[in-house]
Formats: sequence, C-alpha cells, structure tokens
Amino acid sequence: MNEHDTEKIAGVLSGMGYSLTDSPDKADMVILNTCSVREKAEYKCYSDLGRINELKKSNPDLIIGVGGCVAQQEGSNIVKKAPYVDLVFGTDNITDIPQLLEQKKRAPADRVSTVRRKRKYQNKVSDTAAASLKRSHTVKAWVSIVDGCDKFCTFCVVPFTRGRERSRQPDDICNEVLGLAANGYKEVTLLGQNVDSYGKDLGGAVSLAELLKMINDTEGIERIRFVTSHPADFDDKLIDAISSLPSVCESVHLPLQSGSDTVLKRMKRNYTLSGYREKIKRLRDAIPGIAITTDIITGFPGETEDDFNLTLDILTEINFDAAFAFQYSKRPYSPARLYEDQIPFAVGRERLNRVIELQNSITLSKNQECIGREFDILIEGESKKDKGKLTGRTRTNKLVHLTKKAGIQTGDILSVKIRSATLSALTGDVV
Ligand code: SAM
Ligand code: SF4
Repeated sequence: MNEHDTEKIAGVLSGMGYSLTDSPDKADMVILNTCSVREKAEYKCYSDLGRINELKKSNPDLIIGVGGCVAQQEGSNIVKKAPYVDLVFGTDNITDIPQLLEQKKRAPADRVSTVRRKRKYQNKVSDTAAASLKRSHTVKAWVSIVDGCDKFCTFCVVPFTRGRERSRQPDDICNEVLGLAANGYKEVTLLGQNVDSYGKDLGGAVSLAELLKMINDTEGIERIRFVTSHPADFDDKLIDAISSLPSVCESVHLPLQSGSDTVLKRMKRNYTLSGYREKIKRLRDAIPGIAITTDIITGFPGETEDDFNLTLDILTEINFDAAFAFQYSKRPYSPARLYEDQIPFAVGRERLNRVIELQNSITLSKNQECIGREFDILIEGESKKDKGKLTGRTRTNKLVHLTKKAGIQTGDILSVKIRSATLSALTGDVV
C-alpha cells in the first residue's frame, strides 16, 4: 500500500515538473513516505529526518516532506518535533502537495494537511491522474480497490491512520486495469487493507469475487493477485473465483496472527483456529498446489507459553509457503496498548526468533520441493544483485532467478525448470 502511495506521490510531483533521483544528495525535495504499523518504523521516520536535515547544510533550499501513516497519526506534532520539515500530508492528502508548497511560501505555519476526506474513496490520483502515476515496474502494477479498515483488531493502528473502509467504484478499477493492459502490463495486484470486504460500503452489488470475474477477461492481463485477505471474510465465492478464473493466481496471503483461540479472541480477529483450518482445507481441496502465506504476531499481551506453542503447532500443521512474523508492538489508539498483561520485550523477541527459525525450515523445504519441476515464470527484469541474471515469479509468487539469454525479454512468460532452491528464491533454466 505504501509503495503504491509512493507511486502516487511521484506522479503528483512529476506533474509539478519534478523527476525522480536515486540519491537524496542530488534532490531538491525529499519526501519520507512513512509507516506506523509498528513502533520501529515510526522511530525510523524521526531518525531518517535528522539525517536528511543534515543535507540542508549544503543545500538550504532543500524541501523536506513527510507523508503516509506517521504523518496522518502525528500531524502538526511532526513540525513541532522537527521544525525543519516543510510539509506534512496525510494518507488522504497526496493531491494537496502542490497547494501545501504554495501555502508554505505565503504562510510557513500552514504546512500540514491531514484532513480525512468524506467517507468515500479518494480516487483523484489513481483515476483522474492515472496517466501521471509513476509506476515502479513495467510489467506488474498495484491497483487500489479499497482503502481503510473497519475491523479494529485490538493491536492495530490502521483503522485510525487509514480511516474507515472506502471501496473504489468497480468501473474505475476496470478502466485502470484496461489502461495498464494497453500499456503492456501483464500482472495486476488488487490492493486493500482488507480486500475481502471490497464493495460492502457500495451496497454489496460487486464483491471481490465478482470484481475478479470482471477483470479476468482483460486482454493482455495474464495474472491477477490480491492482498490482503482476512480469514473472517474469506469465503467460498472467493475460493471458486480463484479456482475457476484462469488469470487469478494460485496464491493467497491469509494472516493468522496466532494459533491460540484465546489470543485470537483478545485480538478481536473474529475467527477461530478451527474455522481458519477449515478454510485452508477448502482452498487446498479446490486449488491443489496453491501457495498460502501468513502473518504471525508474537508476544501479544497475555500470550502464555502454551498459547505460543499452539502457534508453533499450527505453523507445522498448515505448512505455509512463507510467514511474516512480527513482535507485538504497542500502537497509539489500539485497545491492546492498555491491556495489563503486557509481555516483556525479551520474551516476545525470543518467541519471534523461534517462529522465524521454524518457518525458515518449512519455507526452505517447500522451496526444495520445487526442484525438478517446471513453472510458468513472468520475467520481471534484470536481477538487482547480479546483472547476468533475470528474475521472475511463479504464479504462486515464488521468486526465480535464471541466466540471461538472448531473446528473453521483460514481460515474457516462460516455462522454467527449477534446479536449486534457497530460503528466499529458486534458480532455474528455461525449458
Ligand atoms: N489487514 C491485514 C490483516 O489483518 O490480516 C493485515 C494488515 S497489517 C498492516 C500487516 C500485519 O502487520 C498484520 O497482519 C500483523 O501481523 C502486523 N501488525 C499489525 N499491527 C501490529 C502490531 N501492533 N504489532 C506487531 N505487528 C503488527
Ligand atoms: Fe489492522 Fe485488523 Fe484491519 Fe488488518 S484487519 S488492517 S490487522 S485492523
């Protein structure tokens, strides 16, 4: 979501005559697009700002801006803590950047915009200025379908920073996808904090499953992904859509958070472990070979060693392709910050390490199971680490490296036989 917002910010700035540079020392303006899901990211914002301010010594005209969730959450506190910041804009205020810059010249105090817009999708950037959205890839693109979240999980700041759920009109989404296809894009990822809720605020006429059907036939779009799903809302209609629509990839990210029903209840996740398990079974029965990834939180307030062991058990049982594990972090506004039974940092950290160690061994063996098999790989371009190699992805979203060969181009879909596997990637040869 943040990466896509960065593309929108770059689009707005390019409309003002700016272009991207690869180094802050060469920049006339530096914008930090921030995340506040965990405290560490918020700290990083302030430490990065201090470093960027150093550049003002040799370039006093440098403009420093802060956008994203920390900006939304902190608003004018940012200019109090870091008075050298020239503009602050919230998650709904990307299109205010030109006006903020103008205002700043006339009235320097007036440089913060975090006003939440009306309760409807803010589609100004991605619709009316879609052409100027500065996308960071040439074959795969993010497409926002719903912003905000109404779930209010007790650990999470997102409903407070991103606001309530606002779905984008299906026609606007389809038009953006058509435009991407016309420009040679092969893959789209539909984005939202909770994509499975798509359309509920529009009267429910078009659900995510129906939206996938509408996009599936777009000529030129070979792959459709969506992220993030929520286990409480993930339903059979969606399973049918993945299994029956040829362009929808066999890959689902379904954050579990904990293997203990007690913890899930205190997190207000609105599903039980047995409900989650049942959905995984239905997914795997309907779509053999589907890749399933998840998110896990360790050290949530009140998590006992027994609760934590249930998380380890379910990781082994479900055999996820990958899991993103996080240590619980107290967030503003979130009810769990006030729970009395906070877990000592060292305990949460040690549990995090155990989750990572277990999941690494599962992910590695899952990747090794791919050796000797053939997959369709969408070539995404040159490898960042090795110019002699190309990278691409399987439909199940596994990263694949292959040796560069004449005739292979970015955007090609090739059959590749896997010859080796590590934790993070597969290596193969074009068949
Ligand atoms: N909407 C998605 C869902 O609920 O399933 C996830 C969105 S959230 C921005 C991404 C992940 O960050 C969550 O799945 C959770 O594991 C993690 N996360 C969110 N708040 C957290 C917190 N306070 N401490 C640690 N991890 C957190
Ligand atoms: Fe946060 Fe829960 Fe919404 Fe995900 S579903 S964004 S974790 S409140």
